[in-house]
Amino acid sequence: MKLQRQLFLAQLSAILGSLIVTGLILLLVVPTIYLRETDEQVTVVNGQETVSVEQREELAPRLDAALLVGLGLASIVTLLLVGGFSWWTGRKIIEPIRALSSASKSIAGGRYDLTLDVVGDDEIGELVAHFNNMARALHQTEQTRLKLLADVSHELKTPLATMKVYLEGFQDGVIAQDARTLALLHGEVTRLEKLARSISELSQVESHAFTLDCQPREINTIIETAVAYLSPQFDDKGVHLKTDLPPETLMINADHDRMHQVMLNILGNALQYTPSGGRVQISVSHNRDRASIHIIDTGTGIPAEHLPHIFERFYRVDQSRTRATGGTGVGLTIARHLVEAHGGTLTAHSDGQGSEFMISLPILYRTHNQS
Ligand code: ADP
Repeated sequence: MKLQRQLFLAQLSAILGSLIVTGLILLLVVPTIYLRETDEQVTVVNGQETVSVEQREELAPRLDAALLVGLGLASIVTLLLVGGFSWWTGRKIIEPIRALSSASKSIAGGRYDLTLDVVGDDEIGELVAHFNNMARALHQTEQTRLKLLADVSHELKTPLATMKVYLEGFQDGVIAQDARTLALLHGEVTRLEKLARSISELSQVESHAFTLDCQPREINTIIETAVAYLSPQFDDKGVHLKTDLPPETLMINADHDRMHQVMLNILGNALQYTPSGGRVQISVSHNRDRASIHIIDTGTGIPAEHLPHIFERFYRVDQSRTRATGGTGVGLTIARHLVEAHGGTLTAHSDGQGSEFMISLPILYRTHNQS
């Protein structure tokens, strides 16, 4: 609408301008020409300038000629003024469109790091601003893609190098093909498999290429399902798993499978990084709008300098140790994306002795249980 108004005002000013210019020229030029022509026809009678009837008739064609000259002059001046004005207005519209067109070509050619100057707050200005946002988003996606490729190739290197060494050792006869070495090779292949699965899942969540089947779910049920699933592993390792759930029913809008995946990841980590004899406690706190699941362990803890990075993909606090235990370093990245897709947050705290992970989600509604 702004552009339409601007164009309408521009056209109106051009029309008004031409009318004023024509009027001024007619007022100033025509009398001058006409008077010059009629000077000799004027006679002075009793101190007054008079023109006889015959002289008037004789002067009429001269008036027409003066008018014609005036109109001709006015038309030329108006044409130049209106033409110049229209050219200038057109340029103002065409220039950003030309810039947009050449910028789109650059983007199509893979150059995303460009920004156009936003001039004016009309529709074209808005279009340029949206274009800049689009270019920024594409640039961001491209950076993520490149970083993912670099990370993936880095992650592939270690198991592939190990496998190559063993295979070459087999060929040269310097490594025996016994149960131990074959198990080692099998372990590397399994790790690659797990990595491939994680990468595919990661790319799905990072590009938001997944859908959630959200339904009202009881928060306690989500926790209890995950606890039931992992309890045998906790028992095997000798880590005590305790839950402290609220008596009231807190309902959240959640995709059961995805939230189960999040819980398994965080509880799985708690189990992995807590030595035998340690404890993992799950509790729930809430205010009017949000419920938070706290998973607290008495494990190794996370050093402060690593804490801000643990949600980054492929980040591991202890690279070699975590790799040896089969961690891919993307579990928390995926978990955070999934929690955020539910409108929640996933955060971590650690004072060096043990860690706390907190999943905070919006409450759909809650009911008080009668007991
Ligand atoms: P991984 O598959 O390596 O566990 P995650 O993304 O799940 O990948 O975790 C990233 C890193 O965060 C882990 O490698 C580990 O160093 C650290 N971490 C996660 N949870 C815990 C925990 N409960 N205690 C100590 N460190 C943890």
